[in-house]
Amino acid sequence: MERADVIILGGGLVGLTLAIALDQYGLSSIVIDPADPSATLARGFDGRASAVSITSWRMLETIGVGAHLEGKGCPIGSIRVNEGLAPGGLSFEPDADEGPLGIMFENRQLREALRQSVLAAPNVTLMMPARPAHSERTAGGVEVRLQDGRTVSGALLIGAEGRQSPTRDAAGIRLARWSYDHTAMISTVNHAHPHGNIAYEIFYPAGPFAILPLLPAEDGLNRSAIVWTVKGSEAPAMLGLPERAYAAEIEKRMGGFLGQVTLCSPRSSYPLGFHHAAKITAERLALVGDAAHGIHPIAGQGLNLGFRDAAALVEVLVEGARIGLDAGDAQLLARYERWRSLDTMMVAASTDGLTRLFGIPGRTASLVRRIGLGAVARIAPLKQRFMDEARGQSGELPRLLRGVAV
Ligand SMILES: Cc1cc2nc3c(=O)[nH]c(=O)nc-3n(C[C@H](O)[C@H](O)[C@H](O)COP(=O)(O)OP(=O)(O)OC[C@H]3O[C@@H](n4cnc5c(N)ncnc54)[C@H](O)[C@@H]3O)c2cc1C
Repeated sequence: MERADVIILGGGLVGLTLAIALDQYGLSSIVIDPADPSATLARGFDGRASAVSITSWRMLETIGVGAHLEGKGCPIGSIRVNEGLAPGGLSFEPDADEGPLGIMFENRQLREALRQSVLAAPNVTLMMPARPAHSERTAGGVEVRLQDGRTVSGALLIGAEGRQSPTRDAAGIRLARWSYDHTAMISTVNHAHPHGNIAYEIFYPAGPFAILPLLPAEDGLNRSAIVWTVKGSEAPAMLGLPERAYAAEIEKRMGGFLGQVTLCSPRSSYPLGFHHAAKITAERLALVGDAAHGIHPIAGQGLNLGFRDAAALVEVLVEGARIGLDAGDAQLLARYERWRSLDTMMVAASTDGLTRLFGIPGRTASLVRRIGLGAVARIAPLKQRFMDEARGQSGELPRLLRGVAV
Protein backbone atom coordinates (compact mmCIF):
# COMPACT_ATOMS: atom_id res chain seq x y z
CA MET A 1 0.00 0.00 0.00
CA GLU A 2 1.41 3.39 -1.00
CA ARG A 3 1.75 5.88 1.87
CA ALA A 4 2.31 9.66 2.05
CA ASP A 5 2.04 12.41 4.64
CA VAL A 6 -1.16 13.73 3.06
CA ILE A 7 -3.71 12.45 0.59
CA ILE A 8 -5.22 15.19 -1.56
CA LEU A 9 -8.55 14.41 -3.19
CA GLY A 10 -8.80 16.77 -6.18
CA GLY A 11 -5.99 17.84 -8.52
CA GLY A 12 -7.55 21.14 -9.65
CA LEU A 13 -5.78 24.49 -9.41
CA VAL A 14 -5.75 24.51 -5.60
CA GLY A 15 -5.05 20.80 -4.95
CA LEU A 16 -2.00 20.76 -7.25
CA THR A 17 -0.64 24.03 -5.84
CA LEU A 18 -0.84 22.57 -2.35
CA ALA A 19 0.96 19.35 -3.39
CA ILE A 20 3.77 21.32 -5.08
CA ALA A 21 4.23 23.63 -2.09
CA LEU A 22 4.33 20.69 0.37
CA ASP A 23 6.88 18.96 -1.85
CA GLN A 24 9.24 21.93 -1.49
CA TYR A 25 9.44 21.23 2.24
CA GLY A 26 9.82 17.46 1.97
CA LEU A 27 6.22 16.63 2.87
CA SER A 28 4.87 13.91 0.60
CA SER A 29 1.43 13.73 -0.97
CA ILE A 30 -0.71 11.49 -3.15
CA VAL A 31 -3.10 13.45 -5.39
CA ILE A 32 -6.18 11.57 -6.62
CA ASP A 33 -8.50 13.02 -9.28
CA PRO A 34 -10.90 11.26 -11.69
CA ALA A 35 -10.37 13.85 -14.45
CA ASP A 36 -8.22 12.88 -17.42
CA PRO A 37 -5.42 15.46 -17.96
CA SER A 38 -5.62 14.98 -21.73
CA ALA A 39 -9.16 16.41 -21.45
CA THR A 40 -8.53 19.08 -18.80
CA LEU A 41 -5.49 20.47 -20.64
CA ALA A 42 -7.22 20.54 -24.04
CA ARG A 43 -8.11 23.89 -25.56
CA GLY A 44 -11.73 24.64 -24.84
CA PHE A 45 -11.96 22.60 -21.58
CA ASP A 46 -11.80 25.69 -19.36
CA GLY A 47 -11.98 28.90 -21.36
CA ARG A 48 -11.79 31.07 -18.24
CA ALA A 49 -9.01 33.41 -17.29
CA SER A 50 -8.19 34.24 -13.67
CA ALA A 51 -6.99 37.39 -12.01
CA VAL A 52 -4.10 36.12 -9.88
CA SER A 53 -3.42 38.59 -7.07
CA ILE A 54 0.12 39.77 -6.49
CA THR A 55 0.43 37.82 -3.25
CA SER A 56 -0.76 34.61 -4.99
CA TRP A 57 1.77 35.27 -7.74
CA ARG A 58 4.54 35.59 -5.13
CA MET A 59 3.61 32.16 -3.84
CA LEU A 60 3.59 30.64 -7.35
CA GLU A 61 7.07 32.10 -7.87
CA THR A 62 8.35 30.89 -4.50
CA ILE A 63 7.23 27.29 -5.14
CA GLY A 64 8.69 27.25 -8.68
CA VAL A 65 5.43 27.32 -10.68
CA GLY A 66 6.06 30.94 -11.69
CA ALA A 67 9.00 29.86 -13.88
CA HIS A 68 6.54 28.06 -16.20
CA LEU A 69 4.33 31.15 -16.42
CA GLU A 70 6.96 33.82 -16.95
CA GLY A 71 5.92 36.26 -19.69
CA LYS A 72 2.50 34.63 -20.15
CA GLY A 73 0.42 36.82 -17.83
CA CYS A 74 -1.00 40.26 -18.49
CA PRO A 75 -0.42 42.68 -15.57
CA ILE A 76 -3.49 44.58 -14.38
CA GLY A 77 -2.27 48.16 -14.07
CA SER A 78 -5.56 49.63 -12.90
CA ILE A 79 -9.19 48.73 -12.28
CA ARG A 80 -12.15 50.90 -13.29
CA VAL A 81 -15.52 50.35 -11.69
CA ASN A 82 -18.59 51.95 -13.20
CA GLU A 83 -22.35 51.95 -12.85
CA GLY A 84 -23.42 51.26 -16.45
CA LEU A 85 -21.85 53.62 -18.93
CA ALA A 86 -22.60 56.67 -16.78
CA PRO A 87 -19.72 59.12 -16.36
CA GLY A 88 -17.86 59.13 -13.06
CA GLY A 89 -17.17 55.83 -11.37
CA LEU A 90 -14.11 54.73 -9.55
CA SER A 91 -10.58 54.14 -10.74
CA PHE A 92 -8.02 52.18 -8.73
CA GLU A 93 -4.61 53.24 -9.94
CA PRO A 94 -1.66 52.32 -7.77
CA ASP A 95 1.50 54.41 -7.75
CA ALA A 96 4.04 53.33 -10.36
CA ASP A 97 6.44 51.88 -7.74
CA GLU A 98 3.71 49.70 -6.20
CA GLY A 99 3.54 47.34 -9.18
CA PRO A 100 0.41 45.83 -10.73
CA LEU A 101 -2.80 44.97 -8.86
CA GLY A 102 -2.82 41.43 -10.23
CA ILE A 103 -1.94 39.35 -13.28
CA MET A 104 -4.38 37.79 -15.73
CA PHE A 105 -3.66 34.21 -16.77
CA GLU A 106 -5.70 31.86 -18.88
CA ASN A 107 -6.75 28.93 -16.70
CA ARG A 108 -5.31 26.58 -19.33
CA GLN A 109 -1.86 28.18 -18.80
CA LEU A 110 -2.19 27.80 -15.03
CA ARG A 111 -3.18 24.13 -15.40
CA GLU A 112 -0.25 23.43 -17.74
CA ALA A 113 2.27 25.14 -15.45
CA LEU A 114 0.99 23.26 -12.39
CA ARG A 115 1.12 19.96 -14.23
CA GLN A 116 4.74 20.53 -15.31
CA SER A 117 5.71 21.39 -11.74
CA VAL A 118 3.85 18.47 -10.21
CA LEU A 119 5.38 15.94 -12.60
CA ALA A 120 8.84 17.20 -11.58
CA ALA A 121 8.08 17.10 -7.83
CA PRO A 122 9.79 14.09 -6.22
CA ASN A 123 7.44 13.92 -3.22
CA VAL A 124 4.15 13.97 -5.18
CA THR A 125 2.44 10.86 -6.55
CA LEU A 126 -0.17 11.89 -9.08
CA MET A 127 -3.02 9.41 -9.56
CA MET A 128 -4.99 11.07 -12.33
CA PRO A 129 -7.26 9.77 -13.70
CA ALA A 130 -8.19 7.68 -10.67
CA ARG A 131 -11.49 7.67 -8.81
CA PRO A 132 -11.70 7.36 -5.03
CA ALA A 133 -14.30 4.79 -3.94
CA HIS A 134 -14.12 5.03 -0.15
CA SER A 135 -12.15 6.91 2.46
CA GLU A 136 -11.80 6.25 6.15
CA ARG A 137 -10.43 8.55 8.85
CA THR A 138 -9.55 7.15 12.25
CA ALA A 139 -7.46 8.37 15.18
CA GLY A 140 -4.49 6.45 13.71
CA GLY A 141 -4.58 7.76 10.13
CA VAL A 142 -6.49 7.89 6.86
CA GLU A 143 -7.00 5.33 4.15
CA VAL A 144 -8.47 5.78 0.68
CA ARG A 145 -9.58 2.92 -1.54
CA LEU A 146 -9.70 3.61 -5.25
CA GLN A 147 -12.26 2.18 -7.64
CA ASP A 148 -9.49 0.23 -9.40
CA GLY A 149 -8.81 -1.66 -6.13
CA ARG A 150 -5.63 0.18 -5.02
CA THR A 151 -5.48 1.54 -1.47
CA VAL A 152 -3.37 4.44 -0.22
CA SER A 153 -2.81 5.75 3.29
CA GLY A 154 -1.57 8.88 5.04
CA ALA A 155 -1.82 11.08 8.13
CA LEU A 156 -4.20 13.73 6.74
CA LEU A 157 -6.97 13.78 4.13
CA ILE A 158 -7.44 16.99 2.16
CA GLY A 159 -10.68 17.75 0.34
CA ALA A 160 -9.82 19.82 -2.74
CA GLU A 161 -12.63 18.51 -4.95
CA GLY A 162 -14.24 21.84 -5.74
CA ARG A 163 -17.80 23.00 -5.11
CA GLN A 164 -19.45 19.58 -4.93
CA SER A 165 -16.85 18.08 -2.54
CA PRO A 166 -18.14 14.61 -1.56
CA THR A 167 -15.56 14.43 1.25
CA ARG A 168 -17.01 17.57 2.88
CA ASP A 169 -20.53 16.17 2.63
CA ALA A 170 -19.53 12.71 3.91
CA ALA A 171 -17.89 14.37 6.94
CA GLY A 172 -21.29 15.92 7.76
CA ILE A 173 -19.92 19.47 7.50
CA ARG A 174 -22.81 21.89 7.17
CA LEU A 175 -22.87 24.30 4.29
CA ALA A 176 -24.46 27.73 3.92
CA ARG A 177 -25.42 27.88 0.29
CA TRP A 178 -27.52 30.04 -2.02
CA SER A 179 -27.86 30.66 -5.69
CA TYR A 180 -27.65 34.15 -7.22
CA ASP A 181 -29.90 33.37 -10.18
CA HIS A 182 -26.96 34.67 -12.20
CA THR A 183 -25.11 32.95 -15.01
CA ALA A 184 -21.62 34.05 -15.99
CA MET A 185 -21.08 33.88 -19.75
CA ILE A 186 -17.39 33.59 -20.57
CA SER A 187 -15.63 34.42 -23.81
CA THR A 188 -12.42 35.88 -25.16
CA VAL A 189 -12.50 38.72 -27.67
CA ASN A 190 -10.21 40.63 -29.99
CA HIS A 191 -10.79 44.37 -30.11
CA ALA A 192 -9.54 47.22 -32.27
CA HIS A 193 -8.06 49.48 -29.55
CA PRO A 194 -5.50 48.41 -26.90
CA HIS A 195 -6.83 47.79 -23.36
CA GLY A 196 -3.94 49.63 -21.73
CA ASN A 197 -3.77 46.93 -18.99
CA ILE A 198 -7.01 48.21 -17.48
CA ALA A 199 -9.60 45.84 -16.01
CA TYR A 200 -13.16 47.16 -16.20
CA GLU A 201 -16.07 46.16 -14.00
CA ILE A 202 -19.27 47.68 -15.38
CA PHE A 203 -22.44 47.15 -13.37
CA TYR A 204 -25.65 46.72 -15.35
CA PRO A 205 -29.05 46.03 -13.79
CA ALA A 206 -28.90 42.43 -15.10
CA GLY A 207 -25.47 41.85 -13.51
CA PRO A 208 -21.82 42.86 -13.71
CA PHE A 209 -19.91 42.90 -16.99
CA ALA A 210 -16.13 42.52 -16.67
CA ILE A 211 -13.46 43.19 -19.29
CA LEU A 212 -10.17 41.68 -18.21
CA PRO A 213 -6.93 42.38 -20.10
CA LEU A 214 -5.01 39.49 -21.71
CA LEU A 215 -1.75 39.44 -23.65
CA PRO A 216 -2.20 39.09 -27.41
CA ALA A 217 -2.16 35.49 -28.77
CA GLU A 218 0.26 34.48 -31.60
CA ASP A 219 -1.68 36.68 -34.06
CA GLY A 220 -0.66 39.80 -32.08
CA LEU A 221 -4.23 41.17 -31.86
CA ASN A 222 -5.55 43.05 -28.79
CA ARG A 223 -7.30 40.56 -26.55
CA SER A 224 -9.49 40.57 -23.42
CA ALA A 225 -11.50 38.06 -21.42
CA ILE A 226 -15.18 38.86 -20.93
CA VAL A 227 -17.22 37.75 -17.92
CA TRP A 228 -20.76 38.82 -18.71
CA THR A 229 -23.26 38.08 -15.98
CA VAL A 230 -26.98 37.89 -16.75
CA LYS A 231 -30.10 36.51 -15.07
CA GLY A 232 -30.11 32.71 -15.25
CA SER A 233 -33.25 32.67 -17.39
CA GLU A 234 -31.75 35.04 -19.98
CA ALA A 235 -28.50 33.14 -20.54
CA PRO A 236 -29.69 30.43 -23.00
CA ALA A 237 -31.07 33.01 -25.46
CA MET A 238 -27.91 35.16 -25.27
CA LEU A 239 -25.63 32.14 -25.65
CA GLY A 240 -27.74 31.01 -28.62
CA LEU A 241 -27.01 34.22 -30.55
CA PRO A 242 -24.81 33.84 -33.65
CA GLU A 243 -21.18 34.85 -33.01
CA ARG A 244 -21.42 38.23 -34.74
CA ALA A 245 -24.58 39.22 -32.92
CA TYR A 246 -23.05 38.14 -29.60
CA ALA A 247 -19.90 40.20 -30.33
CA ALA A 248 -22.10 43.19 -31.20
CA GLU A 249 -23.89 42.86 -27.82
CA ILE A 250 -20.51 42.85 -26.07
CA GLU A 251 -19.39 45.91 -28.02
CA LYS A 252 -22.59 47.70 -27.00
CA ARG A 253 -21.98 46.93 -23.31
CA MET A 254 -18.39 48.18 -23.64
CA GLY A 255 -19.75 51.48 -24.87
CA GLY A 256 -17.50 51.12 -27.93
CA PHE A 257 -14.35 52.31 -26.16
CA LEU A 258 -12.28 49.30 -27.27
CA GLY A 259 -13.51 49.61 -30.86
CA GLN A 260 -14.79 46.76 -32.98
CA VAL A 261 -15.04 43.40 -31.22
CA THR A 262 -14.78 39.86 -32.59
CA LEU A 263 -15.00 36.59 -30.66
CA CYS A 264 -11.81 34.52 -30.58
CA SER A 265 -12.85 31.63 -28.33
CA PRO A 266 -15.84 29.35 -27.85
CA ARG A 267 -18.37 30.65 -25.30
CA SER A 268 -19.02 28.87 -22.02
CA SER A 269 -21.26 29.55 -19.04
CA TYR A 270 -21.34 28.95 -15.28
CA PRO A 271 -24.33 29.22 -12.96
CA LEU A 272 -23.23 31.30 -9.96
CA GLY A 273 -23.81 30.58 -6.32
CA PHE A 274 -22.40 31.16 -2.88
CA HIS A 275 -21.39 28.48 -0.42
CA HIS A 276 -19.48 28.53 2.82
CA ALA A 277 -18.59 25.48 4.93
CA ALA A 278 -19.40 25.88 8.63
CA LYS A 279 -16.05 24.20 9.43
CA ILE A 280 -13.02 23.51 7.26
CA THR A 281 -11.51 20.78 9.43
CA ALA A 282 -12.58 17.54 11.12
CA GLU A 283 -10.65 14.58 12.47
CA ARG A 284 -7.65 14.20 10.11
CA LEU A 285 -9.44 16.25 7.46
CA ALA A 286 -8.88 19.73 6.00
CA LEU A 287 -10.80 21.43 3.21
CA VAL A 288 -9.18 23.84 0.74
CA GLY A 289 -10.39 25.96 -2.19
CA ASP A 290 -13.91 25.70 -3.54
CA ALA A 291 -14.56 22.65 -1.34
CA ALA A 292 -14.49 25.10 1.58
CA HIS A 293 -16.00 28.23 0.03
CA GLY A 294 -17.38 29.54 -3.23
CA ILE A 295 -18.08 33.17 -4.00
CA HIS A 296 -19.44 35.26 -6.85
CA PRO A 297 -16.64 35.98 -9.37
CA ILE A 298 -17.52 39.70 -9.22
CA ALA A 299 -14.19 40.54 -7.59
CA GLY A 300 -12.12 37.67 -9.05
CA GLN A 301 -11.16 36.36 -5.62
CA GLY A 302 -12.29 32.69 -5.53
CA LEU A 303 -9.06 31.10 -6.70
CA ASN A 304 -6.99 33.56 -4.67
CA LEU A 305 -8.83 32.48 -1.53
CA GLY A 306 -7.98 28.87 -2.41
CA PHE A 307 -4.31 29.80 -2.88
CA ARG A 308 -4.41 31.46 0.54
CA ASP A 309 -5.83 28.26 2.07
CA ALA A 310 -2.99 26.30 0.49
CA ALA A 311 -0.33 28.75 1.73
CA ALA A 312 -1.69 28.74 5.29
CA LEU A 313 -2.03 24.96 5.43
CA VAL A 314 1.52 24.45 4.15
CA GLU A 315 2.90 26.82 6.79
CA VAL A 316 0.99 25.06 9.57
CA LEU A 317 1.98 21.55 8.42
CA VAL A 318 5.64 22.39 7.78
CA GLU A 319 6.05 24.07 11.18
CA GLY A 320 4.28 21.11 12.79
CA ALA A 321 6.59 18.61 11.07
CA ARG A 322 9.61 20.55 12.38
CA ILE A 323 8.54 19.93 15.94
CA GLY A 324 7.68 16.33 15.27
CA LEU A 325 3.87 16.54 14.88
CA ASP A 326 2.23 14.43 12.22
CA ALA A 327 0.20 16.12 9.49
CA GLY A 328 -3.14 15.05 10.96
CA ASP A 329 -2.44 16.46 14.42
CA ALA A 330 -5.54 18.11 15.91
CA GLN A 331 -3.62 21.21 17.13
CA LEU A 332 -2.35 21.91 13.63
CA LEU A 333 -5.81 21.59 12.15
CA ALA A 334 -7.22 23.91 14.82
CA ARG A 335 -4.61 26.52 13.88
CA TYR A 336 -5.49 26.19 10.18
CA GLU A 337 -9.21 26.53 11.00
CA ARG A 338 -8.66 29.69 13.08
CA TRP A 339 -6.33 31.26 10.54
CA ARG A 340 -8.53 30.80 7.50
CA SER A 341 -12.05 31.17 8.81
CA LEU A 342 -11.89 34.92 9.45
CA ASP A 343 -10.31 35.78 6.09
CA THR A 344 -12.68 33.63 4.02
CA MET A 345 -15.69 34.96 5.91
CA MET A 346 -14.64 38.59 5.38
CA VAL A 347 -14.03 38.15 1.65
CA ALA A 348 -17.22 36.10 1.25
CA ALA A 349 -19.32 38.67 3.09
CA SER A 350 -17.95 41.67 1.21
CA THR A 351 -18.28 39.92 -2.17
CA ASP A 352 -21.85 38.89 -1.39
CA GLY A 353 -22.66 42.43 -0.22
CA LEU A 354 -21.22 43.87 -3.42
CA THR A 355 -23.23 41.44 -5.54
CA ARG A 356 -26.45 42.39 -3.77
CA LEU A 357 -25.72 46.12 -3.74
CA PHE A 358 -25.14 46.15 -7.48
CA GLY A 359 -27.96 43.72 -8.20
CA ILE A 360 -30.77 45.95 -6.85
CA PRO A 361 -32.74 47.54 -9.68
CA GLY A 362 -34.25 51.02 -9.65
CA ARG A 363 -33.12 54.63 -9.67
CA THR A 364 -32.77 55.06 -5.90
CA ALA A 365 -30.46 52.06 -5.65
CA SER A 366 -28.51 53.36 -8.60
CA LEU A 367 -28.07 56.73 -6.86
CA VAL A 368 -26.90 55.02 -3.66
CA ARG A 369 -24.32 53.10 -5.66
CA ARG A 370 -23.03 56.22 -7.37
CA ILE A 371 -22.79 58.06 -4.05
CA GLY A 372 -20.98 55.00 -2.67
CA LEU A 373 -18.49 54.90 -5.53
CA GLY A 374 -17.91 58.63 -5.17
CA ALA A 375 -17.30 58.25 -1.44
CA VAL A 376 -14.79 55.43 -1.91
CA ALA A 377 -13.02 57.58 -4.50
CA ARG A 378 -12.69 60.47 -2.03
CA ILE A 379 -11.72 58.53 1.08
CA ALA A 380 -8.11 57.54 0.50
CA PRO A 381 -7.80 54.83 3.22
CA LEU A 382 -10.95 53.11 1.96
CA LYS A 383 -9.65 53.13 -1.58
CA GLN A 384 -6.32 51.76 -0.39
CA ARG A 385 -8.20 48.98 1.40
CA PHE A 386 -9.96 47.95 -1.81
CA MET A 387 -6.63 47.90 -3.63
CA ASP A 388 -5.04 45.81 -0.87
CA GLU A 389 -7.97 43.39 -1.20
CA ALA A 390 -7.44 43.15 -4.97
CA ARG A 391 -3.73 42.53 -4.42
CA GLY A 392 -4.52 39.93 -1.77
CA GLN A 393 -2.65 41.89 0.88
CA SER A 394 -5.32 42.06 3.56
CA GLY A 395 -5.34 39.94 6.73
CA GLU A 396 -2.50 37.97 8.31
CA LEU A 397 -0.56 36.68 5.35
CA PRO A 398 1.07 33.25 5.28
CA ARG A 399 4.78 33.50 4.48
CA LEU A 400 4.51 31.99 0.99
CA LEU A 401 2.22 34.86 0.01
CA ARG A 402 4.88 37.30 1.14
CA GLY A 403 7.34 35.48 -1.12
CA VAL A 404 9.22 34.17 1.93
CA ALA A 405 10.16 30.52 2.46
CA VAL A 406 8.33 28.75 5.31
C1 LIG B 1 -16.97 32.45 -14.17
C2 LIG B 1 -15.91 32.34 -13.11
C3 LIG B 1 -14.83 33.22 -13.14
C4 LIG B 1 -13.86 33.16 -12.12
N1 LIG B 1 -12.82 34.07 -12.15
C5 LIG B 1 -11.92 34.06 -11.13
C6 LIG B 1 -10.85 35.03 -11.08
O1 LIG B 1 -10.69 35.91 -11.94
N2 LIG B 1 -9.97 34.98 -10.03
C7 LIG B 1 -10.12 34.06 -9.03
O2 LIG B 1 -9.34 34.10 -8.06
N3 LIG B 1 -11.10 33.11 -9.07
C8 LIG B 1 -12.00 33.09 -10.08
N4 LIG B 1 -13.00 32.16 -10.10
C9 LIG B 1 -13.05 31.10 -9.05
C10 LIG B 1 -12.10 29.94 -9.36
O3 LIG B 1 -12.30 29.48 -10.67
C11 LIG B 1 -12.29 28.80 -8.36
O4 LIG B 1 -12.29 29.33 -7.06
C12 LIG B 1 -11.16 27.76 -8.50
O5 LIG B 1 -11.19 27.12 -9.75
C13 LIG B 1 -11.25 26.70 -7.39
O6 LIG B 1 -10.23 25.75 -7.53
P1 LIG B 1 -10.32 24.34 -6.79
O7 LIG B 1 -9.04 23.63 -7.15
O8 LIG B 1 -10.69 24.53 -5.39
O9 LIG B 1 -11.56 23.61 -7.46
P2 LIG B 1 -11.76 23.09 -8.94
O10 LIG B 1 -11.03 23.95 -9.91
O11 LIG B 1 -13.23 22.90 -9.11
O12 LIG B 1 -11.05 21.65 -8.96
C14 LIG B 1 -11.59 20.54 -8.32
C15 LIG B 1 -10.88 19.27 -8.82
O13 LIG B 1 -11.39 18.15 -8.06
C16 LIG B 1 -11.66 17.08 -8.95
N5 LIG B 1 -12.71 16.24 -8.33
C17 LIG B 1 -14.05 16.37 -8.42
N6 LIG B 1 -14.66 15.36 -7.72
C18 LIG B 1 -13.67 14.62 -7.18
C19 LIG B 1 -13.66 13.46 -6.34
N7 LIG B 1 -14.79 12.86 -5.94
N8 LIG B 1 -12.46 12.97 -5.96
C20 LIG B 1 -11.32 13.56 -6.35
N9 LIG B 1 -11.28 14.63 -7.14
C21 LIG B 1 -12.44 15.17 -7.55
C22 LIG B 1 -12.07 17.74 -10.25
O14 LIG B 1 -11.83 16.84 -11.34
C23 LIG B 1 -11.13 18.96 -10.29
O15 LIG B 1 -9.91 18.68 -10.92
C24 LIG B 1 -13.96 32.19 -11.10
C25 LIG B 1 -15.05 31.29 -11.09
C26 LIG B 1 -16.02 31.36 -12.08
C27 LIG B 1 -17.19 30.39 -12.06
